[in-house]
Amino acid sequence: MKPTVTWELAPNKVLTPRVGNVTTQRGSFSLPNFMPVATRGAVKGLFNHELRETGCEILLSNTYHLFLRPGLDAFKASSEKFHSFAGWDGPLLTDSGGYQVLSLSKYKKVTDDGVIFRSIYDGSEHLFTPERVVEIQATLGSTFMMQLDHLPPYTQDRNLITESLQKTVTWYKRSRVAHKNIPEAGMLVPILQGGCFPEYRKQHLDLLMKHDPPIMMAIGGLAVGEPRDIFRETLSAIMSEFPRDRIAYLMGVGEPLDMLTAIGMGVDIFDCVLPSRNGRKGQAFTFQGKMNLRNAKFKTDQDPIDSACTCKICRHYSRSYLCHLLKVKDHTAGAAITWHNLHFYFQFLNQIRDSIKSNMFNKFHASFKSNWEN
Ligand SMILES: [Zn+2]
Repeated sequence: MKPTVTWELAPNKVLTPRVGNVTTQRGSFSLPNFMPVATRGAVKGLFNHELRETGCEILLSNTYHLFLRPGLDAFKASSEKFHSFAGWDGPLLTDSGGYQVLSLSKYKKVTDDGVIFRSIYDGSEHLFTPERVVEIQATLGSTFMMQLDHLPPYTQDRNLITESLQKTVTWYKRSRVAHKNIPEAGMLVPILQGGCFPEYRKQHLDLLMKHDPPIMMAIGGLAVGEPRDIFRETLSAIMSEFPRDRIAYLMGVGEPLDMLTAIGMGVDIFDCVLPSRNGRKGQAFTFQGKMNLRNAKFKTDQDPIDSACTCKICRHYSRSYLCHLLKVKDHTAGAAITWHNLHFYFQFLNQIRDSIKSNMFNKFHASFKSNWEN
């Protein structure tokens, strides 16, 4: 029997924000929400069993990396697959690996069957087909598994976009067949493509809706280098057609202002490496904007990252100490700032949800934006 996922979304009009709640066999999470990225099974520097203390409710990990290292045997040997292997007890979403294949592998070949690539670790050759990535994600024990899609870079070339769209549609059909044959597999999530052409996006959405899609549908192919106004226009065109009873997952978007724009249009869930990758570089997020703790002006600054923050890093450590650890390249600094950043993201989302519930979202959006930019 397939694991069950139930959800409630507050009714809302098209292009307005909404709140909701999703319950899975691994626990529940609120909407809108954000998934930190545990690339190789961990958000670098942090322990999964402590992540909930930051406010994290659902985690994302990368199929490409876990498949290559440690490989599937480690998950088959673990009683609860990823969950016991990696010490995470909440809902898990895994990507399909397609993005990493296209972005990381020097050698790759896209055929009608799937994607052939070489491992970044030892050069061994592998084939990801739509069926294979469903099997891999079932072995990982994912709660939500992404279909293999074809992701073109940002382009205005209609032929390229049409080709990628056709592959994504065909591969989703094949993924569904494979998914039906694995009784314990988590939910299969289709990915909407179509580049920055609203008519292709609509065409793809209409196609997906004909086949009773699952509760979550992902929006791919945005935040891939397109100008900001094109991002906004395309997203608005998609969300004005997006079914109100499905969860909208906008992939790879995590700039707070972009999240606010998207949530204002009805987007429900995001993932991004920003709070962790930038945290490791010394960039901290606060309600007043970003700060670079490598800056020499913090050398003797005794304040915490953010005096209003209640996270364990702000309760115990000064900017001066974190600035020092960054300068001497101690990894403790990256882990500490990542922790604070995740705490910031989940406080930010709490405030967003509260503002939606009290019909104050637009006011919150304007006030956040003005503090962030000043
Ligand atoms: Zn903090």
